[in-house]
Amino acid sequence: MDEESIQKISNFLREYMDIYGDNLFVDVRRIKKLLSEIVEAEPSAPTTVRSERKIISQVQERRKPNASLWKFREKIKDCTQCPLGHTRTNFVFGDGNPEADIMFVGEAPGVEEDRTGIPFVGRAGQLLNKLLSHIKVKREDVFIANILKCQPPGNRDPQPTEIQECIPYLHKQIEMIQPKILVALGRVSAQNLLNTTSSLKQLRNRLWQYQGFDMIVTYHPAAILRNMGLLNTTIEDFRFIHDTYQEKLKHQS
Ligand code: URA
Repeated sequence: MDEESIQKISNFLREYMDIYGDNLFVDVRRIKKLLSEIVEAEPSAPTTVRSERKIISQVQERRKPNASLWKFREKIKDCTQCPLGHTRTNFVFGDGNPEADIMFVGEAPGVEEDRTGIPFVGRAGQLLNKLLSHIKVKREDVFIANILKCQPPGNRDPQPTEIQECIPYLHKQIEMIQPKILVALGRVSAQNLLNTTSSLKQLRNRLWQYQGFDMIVTYHPAAILRNMGLLNTTIEDFRFIHDTYQEKLKHQS
């Protein structure tokens, strides 16, 4: 890692210690390690461009034309049911294994996702990949989708009418994939799937039922990037996802 990156991390940690005091200092090693990986994976770095190309080509390879989920994508990919259909660059259907046991649901595509047509490829996506590898799960083995399939301009919050138009596509995807565990990433995803206004803090760390599917709620990776104090809690949530999944496998065998 170069001097500039180390400086960036030190400044970041100092700022957070000013806010959170010793609590953050306890986690300094973990945060430092994570941040260094993130800094090394800045979107402008050539390695990231290469790894993004790799993800895109893997995604294309996985999209077998006869798979019914990808047929569904073909059917809805030109959607203009809400105004976002006229401003998007790419429709972001979802990515991963159409027979995944674990399915993640985020909020809406961001700039990088709109540009590539693939969910969670920006910085939040890189953090999601790391959280997955922490519980020894490969990104290509899960399925990742969003509440909205198109980017809201300026990354603003999705509007209720947009969610209302778009969420039936997600319901259909969940029905087709039949995941053993559904994971809502962040407030917008959790509140809309569970039809509640409860806070994320109230919703995490327990098993919910969503139309017959077991569901777990955790923080959105973008929220962690804004507040590293959420990292430890989210790692606990990912262990909960892992343990719940292992339990399910045990009972099925
Ligand atoms: N944030 C989301 O909620 N979804 C993405 O695909 C990317 C960032």
